[in-house]
Amino acid sequence: MSHPDGLLIRGGHVYTADEKARTHPEGSVLAVGGLIAAVGDVRTVDEAVAALGPRERAGLRVIDASRTMVLPGFVNPHWHEVLGRGLSPFGPSRRQPDPWRDQEDVPGPFAHGGDVRALSATFEAACSFADALEEEEAEAVAEYSLLLQLKSGTTTFGDVGSMNRPEALVAATDRLGLRGAVSVWAGDGMCAPGESRFRRTRDAAEVLDRLERVRLTTATHDSGRIRVMPSAIYTANMSDELGRGLAAFADRHRLPFATHLAALPDETDVMSHYFGISPVRRCAELGLLNDRLIAVHCAWADEEEWGMLRRARARLNHSPAKYGTTGESAMSGTRSLLRMARAGLELSLSTDGDGLPIGGMAEAMRQTWLTHNELFSDNTAVVPTDALAMATRLGARALLWDEEIGSLQVGKRADLVLVRTDDWRYLLRPRPLEGFLLLGGSTDVDTVIVDGRILVSSGQVTCVPEQAVRERFVTAVTQIAGRLFQVPAETLSRLTARFA
Ligand SMILES: [Zn+2]
Repeated sequence: MSHPDGLLIRGGHVYTADEKARTHPEGSVLAVGGLIAAVGDVRTVDEAVAALGPRERAGLRVIDASRTMVLPGFVNPHWHEVLGRGLSPFGPSRRQPDPWRDQEDVPGPFAHGGDVRALSATFEAACSFADALEEEEAEAVAEYSLLLQLKSGTTTFGDVGSMNRPEALVAATDRLGLRGAVSVWAGDGMCAPGESRFRRTRDAAEVLDRLERVRLTTATHDSGRIRVMPSAIYTANMSDELGRGLAAFADRHRLPFATHLAALPDETDVMSHYFGISPVRRCAELGLLNDRLIAVHCAWADEEEWGMLRRARARLNHSPAKYGTTGESAMSGTRSLLRMARAGLELSLSTDGDGLPIGGMAEAMRQTWLTHNELFSDNTAVVPTDALAMATRLGARALLWDEEIGSLQVGKRADLVLVRTDDWRYLLRPRPLEGFLLLGGSTDVDTVIVDGRILVSSGQVTCVPEQAVRERFVTAVTQIAGRLFQVPAETLSRLTARFA
């Protein structure tokens, strides 16, 4: 996958997602050496092509984009690799009472205010999941999981702790040609149900050492596409010692730090009981509240805490397409996320893990557009290009990657997504982004480009053998489900037969 000499995407409806939300209804993008060399209307970019040297012009690959819209690659700063657990709901003790029927479902731990103690115990139990995977399983799952991100247009991900081995994620990111910040599932204790004090389960130093090993692994890759990101899986699973260690790590390497924070209505009460202080104030005391903090789902802060977050210029992130599947009320519960975005806090989009681990930035854009507008009784509260900015430029800013990616601007890396706009959905709609958000989705992504390299074409991954990757995943996830979740063999063959 060497750099092509140059790539011209010509004649598409270009959305730049720059600060002014510039669009070019008949536009082009020129990439040279992996960087955007020109972007604008067709004629302007044609002039830039004409100014190239004869060798560069001769090696130029041209994509006719006249039936597509052209977007920056999606940036998903809050994602978890959890596909290894994908078949677990079909195990005998999971998803009670019946995995096949939804009519008897009971509310989960995120619902009705949130069962913070139950979540804390679940997150603690997941700390050992990655170590229970065979190396080959970890790699197969990581590769398929990231392949699904790539196919759906995510060109950059931020891992906020995965149920997989970080090294497997680094290797898969490299192989696929993606861009990503890899983390560890970081926690050193829990607020256990039935207990009144935070219970330590491992040394903070052990978690920090693991993170340092990931940093060293990413440092061996010189593509500039792979980074490390310190994170805590939940502040209910983080001792003060670990919090201070993570703050020092992030400060030392000038990295963002991400955690789920003020995410649930009951969080402040429960956490104050265990730590004597609310989660946002605690982050401030531990040195984690600054302009490199990615505060995920952060909707349930009090007014004083909102002032602290604003003064620190922390970055907010939400995962709207996930909330309905888990019963969270991060948007409707307080309406704070958009209120704070209007007050100057940058708000980006993501897919999170459990609710929607498969792609999903297009669905997150739809949900943020429609839900905020409904909440504020205002069809201009979030317009489609605002949703696009949240899914691209603002996510890149949260990851401190915005000098290189997040918008289509000269000098940035050529990370792009092309979506076909030549069917009935777009016939009577002058703004294709609106049509895409309303009636399109992840599976409509046609072409994905990272660093000027075409990684997905006509919806198919070009950089790895997709069928083989999928087969390896099915084998791995079947083994994991049988061994770790006791899913009966008969159930597994019934499930996997559909994917043969
Ligand atoms: Zn999350």
